Amino acid sequence: MTKRRGRRQWASRETLSRSDLVRIILKGAFGERLKADEPLAPYTSFRIGGPAQWFLRVDTVEDLKEAVHVARRARVPFRVLGGGSNVLVSDEGVEGLVILNRSKRFSVRPGPDGLRLVVDSGVSLPWLAGQLAQGGIGGLEWTIGIPGTVGGAVVQNAGAWGQEIKSRLLWVEWLDRQGHLETVDAERLNLGYRHSLLLEFPPAERPIVLRAAFRVDRETPEAVQRRLRRYILRRTSSQPRMPSGGSTFRNPPGDYAGRLLEAVGLKGYRIGNAQFSTKHANFIVNLGGATAADVMALIELARQRVREQFGVELELEIELVGRWEATSSDEETVQGEGREGEDE
Ligand SMILES: Cc1cc2nc3c(=O)[nH]c(=O)nc-3n(C[C@H](O)[C@H](O)[C@H](O)COP(=O)(O)OP(=O)(O)OC[C@H]3O[C@@H](n4cnc5c(N)ncnc54)[C@H](O)[C@@H]3O)c2cc1C
Repeated sequence: MTKRRGRRQWASRETLSRSDLVRIILKGAFGERLKADEPLAPYTSFRIGGPAQWFLRVDTVEDLKEAVHVARRARVPFRVLGGGSNVLVSDEGVEGLVILNRSKRFSVRPGPDGLRLVVDSGVSLPWLAGQLAQGGIGGLEWTIGIPGTVGGAVVQNAGAWGQEIKSRLLWVEWLDRQGHLETVDAERLNLGYRHSLLLEFPPAERPIVLRAAFRVDRETPEAVQRRLRRYILRRTSSQPRMPSGGSTFRNPPGDYAGRLLEAVGLKGYRIGNAQFSTKHANFIVNLGGATAADVMALIELARQRVREQFGVELELEIELVGRWEATSSDEETVQGEGREGEDE
């Protein structure tokens, strides 16, 4: 009797397809929180992108860790999305699980060498900058106009107005793809111009940043808020307000991508509903209903013109995510040389 039941179970397991198994494991772990074929456009600053095969929003670091463990158990490829402000998601969408990181706790405490901020990787930089300014905590107010999360900012070593994550970062706590938790000192992260050790891993092997610690200063709320307002003003006067992915290309050594794009006549150039901004040539903006293919066509055109006229190979600063034709050399991750601390 027992023997027969065992045989039947085995047979049914054999007939389950790989994707059925993945669905059963993910659904079993996350229930109704798990979504299938969720359009990613609303979760990106470009407002562009096809669906994620599987999609899960997490609101705590514990949930983020659990999501990573379950994805590993299901052997499904996964990627963490923060603010979605440095990615171009393909129109075809993303295979596997996309984990939207909305972990949101932070604390400021005295540390061995001054004040220390410990913050979840899903915290939005503009929100954090506002909270810290209100409390009279200085040091990160320059991040006010960067529409990403702490995790994404560490990955990119985000920077603006002569400052960068590197200047204040003490350590990160990450979960590697084998499931090991590790606290990694900032010195070990190879932080440079829009670069970190995390980008040296292929995306499928990249550790997941859970938390980060920063050195911060006690000041008066008025002083920090004054600087905050100055940074907001500088942003609004120099950058377009339409949906975009920020700077498209990295600045080549000794030059500016924006200058090169202007010089080859692409400022304001449009394909479909995507356009090199008339305000900042290195920003591609979504005029409304642009596709990832429109943006990609602009990227390819820009590279070709800049290569032909200046002999310079433009490298993407934004990351291509999802299913793309194999033609794109920058797919998924980029590395390279650049100037330290260059502003957008
Ligand atoms: C209008 C605008 C202005 C901008 N200005 C600036 C600027 O001044 N300076 C600047 O440096 N950048 C700027 N950017 C680019 C972007 O905001 C930053 O790079 C930001 O740090 C990206 O963070 P994110 O959370 O949005 O990352 P996402 O776009 O969500 O992700 C980027 C990459 O990081 C990975 N990732 C995200 N979170 C984690 C995590 N917790 N662990 C591991 N990997 C993770 C993702 O998988 C992806 O590969 C701007 C963008 C826009 C749209």
